[in-house]
Amino acid sequence: MKTVTLPSGERVPALGQGTWQMAAERSRRSEEIATLRLGLDLGLTLIDTAEMYGEGAVEELIGEAIAGRRDEAFIVSKVYPHNASRAGVAAACERSLKRLRTDRIDLYLLHWRGGAKLAETVEGFVALQKAGKIRHYGVSNFDTTDMEELWALLGGPATATNQVLYNLVRRGVERELRPWCRAHRVPLMAYSPIEQAKLAGDAKLADFAKRHGMTAAQAALGWLLAGDDVMVIPKTGRRERLRENLGALERPLSAAQLAELDRLFPAPAGARPLEMI
Ligand code: NAP
Repeated sequence: MKTVTLPSGERVPALGQGTWQMAAERSRRSEEIATLRLGLDLGLTLIDTAEMYGEGAVEELIGEAIAGRRDEAFIVSKVYPHNASRAGVAAACERSLKRLRTDRIDLYLLHWRGGAKLAETVEGFVALQKAGKIRHYGVSNFDTTDMEELWALLGGPATATNQVLYNLVRRGVERELRPWCRAHRVPLMAYSPIEQAKLAGDAKLADFAKRHGMTAAQAALGWLLAGDDVMVIPKTGRRERLRENLGALERPLSAAQLAELDRLFPAPAGARPLEMI
């Protein structure tokens, strides 16, 4: 399994599992749980969630999926900005731990910048880490100036990742943010890597994929997986698609294939503010 190295030196799988929009329909629940478990079997042990997803229902579903297998999983969860005061972070983390039925979160992120003072959020993260309730902390949806602000704070440079919108049609991060993170040894975590399924149905990408003997989703994921500084967290609640997505890791794209994708889906010419979904 390809891995990405966190600033602490710990290696985590480059391909993980997203979970937004899970737990929305009762009829899909058992397949979603089976998919998360199959992911654990196949090495997709990084599971990304948030207290926001289903207002806790997705963390509960994950708690059920990893029951008896907690040590196999690397759990990422996120705190709402409106819960991100020093005391609020501690309380939110306790609620997430309970729903996830665990005693620790492997990586705890601030979901996006909001009202709380960033210094307070980081203080809260450091206190949780000291207490053993979280193992690493990080941020999400932070642009370069946010990262610079974070780096000036006590505990800021221990940030383990920045989770951002990044895929073939959202390449704005390449101009400033990705080089900044690379220089500071902070891996990115690419969310919505298939542009919420739209890239799987993109005609241009489907044509590329057909010519190269893969599916469009595999091409989208393979392009992101080419770097050593990007973790990729596609969401699927279907075992068949999980196996398909895993195929992107099993057959890495060649330099020529990557160059062709770069031409088909060029990065924007100038600097752009970070996009969010
Ligand atoms: P995504 O992973 O790009 O796409 C997910 C969608 O694609 C689902 O509808 C899924 O449907 C479908 N899909 C998955 N594999 C497929 C395949 N091989 N062929 C065709 N369709 C496929 O979008 P996302 O869920 O927005 O992003 C991934 C994860 O990133 C989220 O689940 C969440 O954990 C995280 N995220 C974080 C933020 C943030 O602000 N930090 C924002 C957005 C997302 P099925 O489930 O039916 O297969």
